[in-house]
Amino acid sequence: MNKLREMLAKFMYGRYGTDRLNMFLLIVLIVCAGLNLFVRNGYFSIVMSSWETLLIVLIYYRMFSRNIQKRYAENQKYLSLENKVKRFFGRTKYIQEQRKDFHIYTCPQCRQKIRIPKGKGKISVRCPKCGAEFVKKS
Ligand SMILES: [Zn+2]
Repeated sequence: MNKLREMLAKFMYGRYGTDRLNMFLLIVLIVCAGLNLFVRNGYFSIVMSSWETLLIVLIYYRMFSRNIQKRYAENQKYLSLENKVKRFFGRTKYIQEQRKDFHIYTCPQCRQKIRIPKGKGKISVRCPKCGAEFVKKS
C-alpha cells in the first residue's frame, strides 16, 4: 500500500493535480451521467455520452498536466466567473427580499430606481436624484 502511494506521489510530482475547476467539471460529469441514466432517449444518450467522455478527458488532462501555470490561470478564470454568478444570484435574492416589504418604482424622469415601503396608501414620491415628484400607491 505504501509502495502504491509512493508511486502515485512520484507520478504526480510536477503535475498540476486537482483544483476547484476540476471539482466543478466532476460535478457536471456526475450530473450528465445521472441525466443519462434517467432519460432513456437514444439521441440524448449519445450526446450525453460524448459530453461525459470529453469531461473525463478534460479532468484527467488538467490533473496530470505539467503546465501548472496555465492550469492555474484557467482555475483563476473559472473562480472569477463563479464569483460573478454568485454575486448575480445574491443580488437577485436581495431584490426578491426587498420586493416583500417595498415597492420598487422607477423615476419617470431619470429612470432612477426608488424603494418605497408597502402599505402606506397613496403617497407622493420625491426622486432623490433629480427631485421629480410623482404620486404612487404603495
Ligand atoms: Zn429622478
